[in-house]
Amino acid sequence: MIAQAELVERVQAYDAGADRELINRAYAFSEKAHGSQKRESGDSYFSHPLEVAGIVAQMKLDGATVATALLHDTVEDTLATLDDIEVQFGPEIARLVDGVTKLSRLEMPSDRAMQAENFRKLLLAMSNDIRVLLVKLADRLHNMQTLRHVRAPEKRKRIAIETMEIYVPLAERIGMQQMKEELEDCAFAELNPDAWGSLHKRLEFLRARGGDLVSRIADELGRTIAKGGVEAQVTGREKKPYSIWRKMERKNISFEQLSDIMAFRVTVERVADCYAALGAVHGAYPMIPGRFKDYVSVPKLNNYRALHTTVIGPERKRIEVQICDREMLAVADYGVAAHWQYKQQRETTDGSQYRWIRELLEILEHAPTAEEFLENTKLEMFQDEVFCFSPKGDLIVLPRGATPVDFAYAVHTEIGDTCVGAKVNGRLAPLRTQLANGDQVEIVRSSGQTPSPTWENLVVTGKARSAIRRFARNQERSQYLELGKSIVDKALQHAGRTLAEGELEAVLDIFRCKTVDDLYVGVGNGVHTARDVLDAVIGGEQRLGRAGRVLSFVRSRTRLSRASDDAVPIRGLIPGVAVHFGDCCHPLPGERIVGISTSGKGIIIHTIDCDTLETVSDAPERWLDVAWDAQPDAAGIHAGRIRALVANQPGSLSIMTTVIANNDGNISNLKILNRAEGFFEFQVDIEVRDLKHLTQILAALRSESAIASVKRVRG
Ligand code: MN
Repeated sequence: MIAQAELVERVQAYDAGADRELINRAYAFSEKAHGSQKRESGDSYFSHPLEVAGIVAQMKLDGATVATALLHDTVEDTLATLDDIEVQFGPEIARLVDGVTKLSRLEMPSDRAMQAENFRKLLLAMSNDIRVLLVKLADRLHNMQTLRHVRAPEKRKRIAIETMEIYVPLAERIGMQQMKEELEDCAFAELNPDAWGSLHKRLEFLRARGGDLVSRIADELGRTIAKGGVEAQVTGREKKPYSIWRKMERKNISFEQLSDIMAFRVTVERVADCYAALGAVHGAYPMIPGRFKDYVSVPKLNNYRALHTTVIGPERKRIEVQICDREMLAVADYGVAAHWQYKQQRETTDGSQYRWIRELLEILEHAPTAEEFLENTKLEMFQDEVFCFSPKGDLIVLPRGATPVDFAYAVHTEIGDTCVGAKVNGRLAPLRTQLANGDQVEIVRSSGQTPSPTWENLVVTGKARSAIRRFARNQERSQYLELGKSIVDKALQHAGRTLAEGELEAVLDIFRCKTVDDLYVGVGNGVHTARDVLDAVIGGEQRLGRAGRVLSFVRSRTRLSRASDDAVPIRGLIPGVAVHFGDCCHPLPGERIVGISTSGKGIIIHTIDCDTLETVSDAPERWLDVAWDAQPDAAGIHAGRIRALVANQPGSLSIMTTVIANNDGNISNLKILNRAEGFFEFQVDIEVRDLKHLTQILAALRSESAIASVKRVRG
C-alpha cells in the first residue's frame, strides 16, 4: 500500500502546482468513510481506492482526478453521500465522483457478443469528462490485479470476460497501450489459466537459459545506434503472455517457432532522430522484409506514432524494434492523457491547469487523421445517441430525442404497435418523454391498442415512423376491404343473385386486380363501383336490373324516412379512413344519410337533404344506401353546428355555454357572426353523440329567455 506522503509526492513530481491539501483531505475522508471495511483478500478496503489513486498518478493526471480516485467508491459503498462530497470538495470533484459511480452501477448487457460495442459506446457517452473514464479504467485495473482473491469462480469469470470485451477495447481506443496490455493479461490468466501458465513457465525457462538476454541485447542495440551518431535510450521487454498467445493463434504456430517474443523500444530526442536510428539499426542487422511500418508519417487511428521494424539482431535473435521520440512514447503508453501533458508543457504560461479537457478535445478535433480517430476517441461523438436498457438488460441505441415509442419499435414492431405506456426507471412516464442515457425502459402493452397517427410527432427513428405509417396504410386497406365487400354483397342481394365459386376470380382481369380482396378494396375506395362488378359478373344481361333500381330509388329522397334494411352499415368503419362525413351537412347519427362513393377516398356521407347531392345526381352508380350502426356509437363524436341569437346583456353568453355544458355538449368552436342592435349572433360547433343529443341541447337553449332564437345549421 502506498503511503499518503508518497502519493502526494508522486503527484507533485509531475505537477508542482497540484493541490497537496486537497489530496490529503480526500485521503482522510476516504479512509474514514471506508473505516473497517475489508476486501475479499482480507486487506482493508481503503487499500483499493489508494492503489487506484496510485495508478492515476502513474498516468500523471491532475490533482482533482487523484482525489476522485481516492473517493471513487465512497458514494456507492459507504454512508457518504454525493452532497457530502460536494460540500467538502466542491462541484467539480462531486461531478467526477458521480460520473465514476454511475459507470460502476451500469450492468453489462445480457447478450454480450452483440452488445459489447454498444456498451462501450454507452460508457464513453456517460463519461462526459474523460477523467471519469480514466479513473474507471484504473479502478478496473486494480480489481483485475487482485482478481484472484475473489472467491466465487463465476464472479471471477464474469469480471474477466467483461474486462476482455469492454475495458480492453476501450483502453485501446483511447490509446492507453500499457493499460490495455495489463488488463488483457490479467483477464487471460483468469479465462485460460492453463495457456497462461504454460506461456509464463516457458518465458521463465527462456529467461533462465538466456541469462539476462533482454538487457544484453538492449545494451548492444544502444551501442549500435550510438555509433550511428544518435543519442537514444533502449529498453527491452518480453511480450505479455496474452499477446504471444494471440500471435500463436493468429499465425497458427507453436511457441518454439515463435521467435520474436522480445520487443525493444528506442527512445530518441527528435522526430528526425527516429529515422537516423532506424538507419543505424538496418545498417547493422538484416531486416525481415514486410515488417517495417512507418507510423510516424502515417499515425494509427488512435494517434499512435512510431517506427516499427523486425531484424535479426544481436546474438542472432529475431527482435522487434519500435523507435519513437518522448512525446510519441507518452502517447503510446498513456494515450489521450499524454496529449494533455505535452500540450500543457508547451503552454505553461497559459494559466489554468484545469482547462486541459477542453484542450484535449481540441487536439482530438484537429488531429491530422481526423475522421476515424475522432470516430474512435472523441467522447462527444456519442452525444447524439442515447443508450437505454430493456428490463432484460438488452441495450438499445437510439438517436437523441428518442421517446419510449421509438424504444418500443426498436425492440420489436409488435411491441411498438401495442404500446400504451412506458415505465422509465420503474416509474410511469408519458410516451413523449425523451429518454436519457442509461434509462431502463419497460413498455406497457395492451393487445387492443393500435398505433395512433399522432405518434408520428413523437418519434425520431425511421423504424418507428415507417411502422406507424405502414399500420395506417394496412388499416386503411382493411377498412376499404370491409366496406367494398358489404357494398358488393348488398348489390348482389338487390340483384337477387348469389356468387358462385370463382365468379369474382373470373372477372379480376377486367378490373386489373390480382386478388378478390384487391377488387373489394377497389370498390371500397370508389375506384370501381358495385354496378361495374355486377355487370362484369352477370355479363350485362341484367344491366340496370334491380341493383340499378335500388340505387336510383335512393335518389327519391322524400320517400325515405328511415334507413332501409338493405343499407350498408357503417359500423366498425373509422371516420376519416374509408368513411368521411360531409363538411357541407355534418350528418349526425339518427339522420337519414346517403353515401357517395368517391374515387380513391372511400365514401362521403351526406344527409339525405344535403344540396351537394345535386352535383352527383347524374351518377347513380356512385350512390350508396348506408345506415348508422344500430348501437349508439360510443367512440364516435360528431360535429353539430348551431346558430343562436343571444341578447346583448351581461351573463347571456355564459348562460348559453353553461346550458350546452350541462347537457353534456362540448363546444369545439365559437364565432360571432353578427352584432345587431341588442343582440349577438353566434355560430357554435358542438361535439355531440347523435341527432337526439343535439336536439336535446337545442331544446334546452330555447327554454332560456336570454336566447332569442336558436337553430341547427349546416355548412
Ligand atoms: Mn472501485
